[in-house]
Amino acid sequence: MSANSSRQNTPVPWHTFDIDTTLEKLQVDPATGLSAAEVLERLQQYGPNELEETGGRSPWIILLDQFKNIMLLMLIAVAFISGFLALQQGEFPKDAVAIMLIVILNGVLGYLQETRAEKALAALKSLASPLVRVLRDGKLLEVASTDVVPGDIMFLEAGVQVAADGRLIEESNLQVRESALTGEAQAVEKDAPIDLPENTSLGDRLNLVFCGTEVVKGRAKAIVIGTGMRTELGKIATLIQGVESEDTPLQQRMTQLGNVLVTGSLILVAIVVIGGTLVQGMSAFNHLLEISLSMAVAIVPEGLPAVITVTLALGTQRMVKRHALIRKLPAVETLGSVTTICSDKTGTLTQNKMVVQGVETPSHSLTVTGEGYEPTGDFLGANQTKIGVGELGEYPELETLLLSCVQCNDAVLQYENNDWAIVGDPTEGALLVLAGKLEFTGDRLSSQLPRISEFPFSSERKRMSVICQVSNPESKVLSQDSTPFVMFTKGSPELTLDCCSQVLIGNQIQPLSEAQRQQVLDRNNDLAARGLRVLGFAYKPLREEPPESSEDQTEQELVWLGMVGMLDAPRPEVREAVVKCRRAGIRPIMITGDHQLTAIAIAQDLGIAQEGDRVLIGQELEEMPQEELEREVDHVSVYARVSPEHKLRIVQALQKRGKFVAMTGDGVNDAPALKQADIGIAMGITGTDVSKEASDMVLLDDNFATIVAATEEGRVVYTNIRRFIKYILGSNIGELLTIAAAPLLGLPGVPLTPLQILWMNLVTDGFPALALAVEPPEPDVMNRPPFSPRENIFARGLGLYMVRIGIVFAIISIALMMWAYSYTHEVLVDGLSPDRWKTMVFTTLCIAQMGHAIAVRSNTQLTIQLNPLSNPFVFGAVIITTILQLLLIYVQPLRAFFGTHWLTPTELAICLGFSSLLFIWVEMEKVFFRVFYGKKKTPTGVLTPV
Ligand code: ATP
Repeated sequence: MSANSSRQNTPVPWHTFDIDTTLEKLQVDPATGLSAAEVLERLQQYGPNELEETGGRSPWIILLDQFKNIMLLMLIAVAFISGFLALQQGEFPKDAVAIMLIVILNGVLGYLQETRAEKALAALKSLASPLVRVLRDGKLLEVASTDVVPGDIMFLEAGVQVAADGRLIEESNLQVRESALTGEAQAVEKDAPIDLPENTSLGDRLNLVFCGTEVVKGRAKAIVIGTGMRTELGKIATLIQGVESEDTPLQQRMTQLGNVLVTGSLILVAIVVIGGTLVQGMSAFNHLLEISLSMAVAIVPEGLPAVITVTLALGTQRMVKRHALIRKLPAVETLGSVTTICSDKTGTLTQNKMVVQGVETPSHSLTVTGEGYEPTGDFLGANQTKIGVGELGEYPELETLLLSCVQCNDAVLQYENNDWAIVGDPTEGALLVLAGKLEFTGDRLSSQLPRISEFPFSSERKRMSVICQVSNPESKVLSQDSTPFVMFTKGSPELTLDCCSQVLIGNQIQPLSEAQRQQVLDRNNDLAARGLRVLGFAYKPLREEPPESSEDQTEQELVWLGMVGMLDAPRPEVREAVVKCRRAGIRPIMITGDHQLTAIAIAQDLGIAQEGDRVLIGQELEEMPQEELEREVDHVSVYARVSPEHKLRIVQALQKRGKFVAMTGDGVNDAPALKQADIGIAMGITGTDVSKEASDMVLLDDNFATIVAATEEGRVVYTNIRRFIKYILGSNIGELLTIAAAPLLGLPGVPLTPLQILWMNLVTDGFPALALAVEPPEPDVMNRPPFSPRENIFARGLGLYMVRIGIVFAIISIALMMWAYSYTHEVLVDGLSPDRWKTMVFTTLCIAQMGHAIAVRSNTQLTIQLNPLSNPFVFGAVIITTILQLLLIYVQPLRAFFGTHWLTPTELAICLGFSSLLFIWVEMEKVFFRVFYGKKKTPTGVLTPV
């Protein structure tokens, strides 16, 4: 529980205070923010900024829910009946007690797994917990949301989930979706300067922002007024959703399978008891009932739910090690089925480390040197002439363009820990570095050209503008104008140029001719074709301050300044990942807001665009009916200049074509596409909080190669699940048939007691199954096409395999049973019970499963071809389980408890001999399939594409 949650909340009517009063009450200077010492003090006073999770189910309910499982309910019923029978015969109800213990153990294990899984998922999620931008000690910092304290000056922008309650100090076009608090889906327009009456309802407190709400547009600066449980959200914390722990499709199918098995076994029990009694008379009733009870216990795979949960948890852990953070459990399992990966370009396929390489003004074409974010390098003009720092005045076009770079910019370039770093958008950071190379920095201008408002950037508009006040028009910051305001605009060159009617040539503003316009577009294409990301710049002198949200009217009649081209190098590891993807039958697609030529250059470099592939531009997509898009999607590998809503249409079209789509996104408006995609993937570093919330998986390193790695892990998880399911259920069928065969063959008694069956299902099957769950990937895991996510877990021969192996298993154990029965009744050994044929059946079933575990490790390769150390757990489990089984036979108290009998060495050797037959059978199957089908088919896998 956080420290402040226990304190009594005394509501302070923050919305009634003006900004100055709020700052005074919280004792903070808005220009510098809190000092480190003050933050520490307040953190101690108010506690961390986190919410107590009071939502979700109580521990008792979780525990009780475990017993709602139909298989456990059946086991409880079996325990009662078996207990009743034992008491009737004057015996201690050992089986009943054991079954009940196992039911309780299963329930407790289920409880522990469920609560631990929830905690683990929550802990994993906190790895991607949002960072908050705050001003402290005069510096802009990004801190963990838990470290925010009252009085912090926090910065908000589109896509951010507000980390604490705050009073707005400044805002620009701020719109916030407050549905988490008010249930109202429509975004609310906020307003910093107003003061409100005390009785204003929460939804109308326009000068406040609230924790947990989402900024959908604009930006703002706010002073934190409440953190943790003292926020409005904290007050209603019980309504907050806990961590989602959805059942995976497999878990759902297993629940269904449980229902089928239970119903089936109940019908079988009824048939055996009623039918048997009718034929053999009432005297056989008790015996038949015992047989039926054993059959009911045999058919239920008691250990399976635990093994599945552990496998999914291990899969999640392995993925996080490879930087893929699973937010929704079903993704672990379904990732392996991905057929198409739609990836953003900037930051995912490229490094997102922009370096400006060229500047184009109307009169000059300049090359810029230098690397990284260090603001050192040269501007080289024609004939490599260098522009010196003091010579900028001779290049008024360049000077104005650099002014625009610095003013129309929200990033900060800082020198920290002996290195230059950028806080904010790398595209904007690169512009600061560019200006810095001519010692042109924002500090010099902030007093002369203070920013008073802005039209923020959005992926739809692909541009942004800032409006600055010319504090002293006489100083002529812009030497050619003397208006009281000026607007700087930057964005995609084509769209920005569309808004221009004039151009700055030297010191003069001139009308923009068609020829000049065409020249700009040609230069833009040249730069983009080199794979550079190009930004266009313009400005406009203004006589008066434009009203809010008037971007469409104001961003017209602009004066064109020029362009810069920046290099964002592809990530080197992506090329290999693309090759791997293609080999695995997965198609990579690039979806970017950037220019088509930039996109194609990079897509070709990375191998994403191939001969004959099409490029589709946002504008074409806009005009294309959805049916046509559905026809086209199979041929398009690059989508350029797209907006977030296009992404949604692309996913839908791909899904209509039967594809299983993973889609990346980072912006606030990407959320619908991320939700629609089969696997929505958000960016851990650059992604907005809103996109993370909407995703199934978060890339901790924003890297495309990580998606491919996660897909590989998904395939491994799915293959291993199939592997141990066929292993476990095959054994259950074998046990069932063996028990049912005994009375049919006229053998007296029940070959296996419920207790022995539970032992087999939980221990001797359970350990090897767990070991099979960590089987390393088969070599062909990424060399074959993905399997359909819609396929049944028993598809591709797995169901048939289980039945086939179950029957072979039963034939082996029935043969052994027949032989053992006559042998133990003929060879009477002093002091040994003739009933030891039952122990021989029990032992053969257990040991045969050990051979099965070893053989089932690979679908295609023979056991001798496998490295035993590649999964030492299987051999470890086999050895331990075999020893345990022997202890059950040779240790007196265990023998008494489990109702087993001592076996002579010969008898044990015979059991081992029969047991090995199952191993030999499974290996022979592999040889058979290899000879007759080559690599096309295996005992449980038809390797066909979706
Ligand atoms: P991705 O490839 O990940 O979709 P992107 O950066 O190409 O990302 P957006 O961020 O939507 O896509 O950018 C689209 C276009 O908007 C860019 O090509 C550029 O011309 C312009 N742009 C990008 N960032 C800014 C910015 N900070 N200010 C103004 N214009 C920008």
